[in-house]
Amino acid sequence: MAELNLILLGPPGAGKGTQATNLTADFGLPHIATGDILRAAVAGETDLGKEAKRFMDAGDLVPDSVITGVILERVAEDDARDGFVLDGFPRTVDQADSLGKELEARERRLTGVLLIDTPDDVVIKRISGRRVSRKTGRIYHVDFDPPTHEGRCDVDGSELIQRDDDREETVRKRLVVYHEQTEPLIAYYEDLGLLRRIDGTRSPSEVHAHIRATIATLRLEDEL
Ligand code: ADP
Ligand code: ADP
Repeated sequence: MAELNLILLGPPGAGKGTQATNLTADFGLPHIATGDILRAAVAGETDLGKEAKRFMDAGDLVPDSVITGVILERVAEDDARDGFVLDGFPRTVDQADSLGKELEARERRLTGVLLIDTPDDVVIKRISGRRVSRKTGRIYHVDFDPPTHEGRCDVDGSELIQRDDDREETVRKRLVVYHEQTEPLIAYYEDLGLLRRIDGTRSPSEVHAHIRATIATLRLEDEL
């Protein structure tokens, strides 16, 4: 079977992390979440974390020179041999160019780019209610996907927190950054014939079903 190399694209709060978790369960592919990698680096006070923190706190993107090498190395690891789900990368045209060159050098290519299309007013509601477990990475929403016991992760009872950058002012800044720097990737991947649009306003299970159907079609097209 051919590799399944996927990118999840969409604004903050569109549901990329939620759907990437589903895809990991479906296909056994590693979920490469740039934000999670960066937050772990900040918590561990590594060089990467020290460089990234002030940009993340301000809702800005971490410079390409800081993040690109880290993600390209991750994609080249052994567990991503049969494919990967990239969540939160690329976020700029430069990052997309670097990824394209790296894959080409390894004679690999992207299977598809799934845009989880979700308007700003919807993502603001989603992000303001987002809660996460730092320990398990499981994502919840206080109204749309609440845990069984308030404030505790269903997996292991660990504490659920609100991310520092999920405060409303930072969210608005992140949306501006998305429209300016990341949205050009829609046309970029459309031109390459790789973009597939998913209606992100539907329920998580409907979005999941649409993504699965889209992947099935991509795979058929890949075999032709
Ligand atoms: P969300 O899923 O809500 O969009 P992420 O967890 O993906 O948020 O990202 C959190 C922050 O990490 C971003 O606001 C940005 O500062 C940084 N970040 C994540 N991915 C990238 C990237 N590919 N390039 C630059 N900065 C990034
Ligand atoms: P992203 O990774 O794109 O930033 P998340 O997967 O973290 O987005 O989802 C953002 C918030 O919205 C979370 O609280 C999540 O539980 C919730 N959520 C995700 N998908 C949906 C959906 N289809 N409908 C309603 N809420 C959703």
